[in-house]
Amino acid sequence: MSTFAAAPTALIVHAHPEPQSFSTAQMTAAAEALRDAGYRVDVLDLYADAWAPVLAREEYAPVEGHFKPQAEQIRAVKDGTLDATVKGHLDRLLAADLLVLSFPMWWFSLPAILKGWIDRVFVMGGVFGGDHGLFDDAALAGKRAMLLITTGGSSESFQPGGAFGPMDDFLFHIHRGMLQFVGFQVLDPVVTYGPARMTDQERAAALDEVKASVALTAADVRATVG
Ligand SMILES: Cc1cc2nc3c(=O)[nH]c(=O)nc-3n(C[C@H](O)[C@H](O)[C@H](O)COP(=O)(O)OP(=O)(O)OC[C@H]3O[C@@H](n4cnc5c(N)ncnc54)[C@H](O)[C@@H]3O)c2cc1C
Repeated sequence: MSTFAAAPTALIVHAHPEPQSFSTAQMTAAAEALRDAGYRVDVLDLYADAWAPVLAREEYAPVEGHFKPQAEQIRAVKDGTLDATVKGHLDRLLAADLLVLSFPMWWFSLPAILKGWIDRVFVMGGVFGGDHGLFDDAALAGKRAMLLITTGGSSESFQPGGAFGPMDDFLFHIHRGMLQFVGFQVLDPVVTYGPARMTDQERAAALDEVKASVALTAADVRATVG
């Protein structure tokens, strides 16, 4: 039976500290495109929600001696003692057919607040490991994920032979090491290069392009899944 018998759900996890940023406008444009394509859209705005990104011993039941985070994650999933906020986010993640991670590229990677969301919510025993395997045997197998990014660098600088090198090289640790690792099928990223150096007109056009790309992706996902 199709996963999408009902309206599909997209979870957008957004990580930008400024509500007036281009990244936030891009996230809003993507959300609109997904709603227009028939998705139920759940937005998790990490800065607005003051998400605490640090995986800490204190969020787990007291442990005598050596604290092993992944063993405690498995135990907390089994015992139903996961931190309530983490459990709420995990439930939203498990309910989503499509995960969108929306962020400005910082140090050629994710902002720390979003990395900390992965650290705390992609729990062992919940999305991989424990009763689940890895990659195609992980808990999120069959679901889709995509990155929605802004950069400071130009498109040319992220080409092979460019000043930084291929964008795919920088995204590999997220695509393979975080998303595919827990079972997601990874979709092409949507990237706006250097919005701060664009004119207002170019930025408006870039937002239209984001909407068009996300609409195409949303339609492709619906066509291939059901
Ligand atoms: C710690 C750190 C590390 C970084 N590392 C890297 C790196 O490794 N590689 C790299 O390439 N870059 C890097 N950068 C740069 C960063 O990626 C860019 O500054 C960021 O992606 C730009 O997006 P923004 O949303 O923050 O832009 P903003 O500066 O918020 O927005 C750009 C412009 O768009 C305007 N705007 C907002 N909304 C709209 C709208 N609706 N319509 C039209 N215009 C609008 C804004 O007013 C602004 O003038 C780094 C930045 C930081 C802070």
